[in-house]
Amino acid sequence: MGNKRLMGKVALVTGAARGIGEAIARAFVAEGAWVQVTDIDVEQGARVAASLGDRAEFLRLDVRDETDWREATDAVLRAHGRLDVVVNNAGITGFEGHAGPHDPEHASLAAWRSVHETNLDGVFLGCKHAIRAMRATGTGSIINISSRSGLVGIPAAAAYASSKAGVRNHTKTVALYCAGQGMQVRCNSIHPAAILTPMWEPMLGTGPERDANMAMFVQDTPLRRFGTPEEVAAMAVMLASDEACYITGAELNIDGGILAGSVAVPSH
Ligand code: NDP
Repeated sequence: MGNKRLMGKVALVTGAARGIGEAIARAFVAEGAWVQVTDIDVEQGARVAASLGDRAEFLRLDVRDETDWREATDAVLRAHGRLDVVVNNAGITGFEGHAGPHDPEHASLAAWRSVHETNLDGVFLGCKHAIRAMRATGTGSIINISSRSGLVGIPAAAAYASSKAGVRNHTKTVALYCAGQGMQVRCNSIHPAAILTPMWEPMLGTGPERDANMAMFVQDTPLRRFGTPEEVAAMAVMLASDEACYITGAELNIDGGILAGSVAVPSH
């Protein structure tokens, strides 16, 4: 019990009903944290929190809604007197509802704005209310889930790439702002690529083409496989823990080695 890495810490994770967010919530609880599991998927989010026992609770939080953010952070402060870790994980590709084009020539303004509203406005609000809540102790760790797509151009997913690039840059601004305020609040971004979660389902399809699609998506990944949500969660645990107390404004890639090389074709 004594050597758990997040013992005594209070965390809030967005988009934690499934995928990477769920894995992060599970890893945080396993390392001794109390976790506010949040998502817009109430049913699945509540199921995840219930499966984590008394070290987690579910709250509906739409990252686009500032009122939700204020209520969620205030609720954590009321219950625990502190908020140590916020993981801004919720994100969308834009391919979920409508399969319309997302390239720079044909994407609609509505689709562009919708992706930015969740991925970038949501992170802005998450950082804003994390900083406010972390003033209670003057310490904390904000972890923003960006993407490999925030570091390179993605012709077929222009809004997604732009929004994730915005997250990368805003992370550095928040890190410098908090340091400038004399707070020990760190802010870092994680840049995953090809992590096998439900987000991929619309792109992988079903049936015989699924295996071929999967192989295609990792053909330029040096490690030749998808990553797992648990592998991303391990990086989040490190950034949330005091082991990372000198890391702020950093971007950490977790991509099977893609960004180590110069092959840059995955535009599908
Ligand atoms: P998933 O789609 O599997 O899970 C995302 C969760 O976020 C869902 O439960 C979803 O709910 C929820 N969500 C969507 N919109 C909102 C919102 N407005 N407010 C709160 N919750 C919301 O995604 P992943 O786990 O794959 O991805 C998590 C993060 O990692 C995202 O930011 C993504 O961009 C990033 N990422 C993922 C990669 C990957 O390969 N999987 C690679 C690079 C980055 P619902 O299902 O109801 O929409």
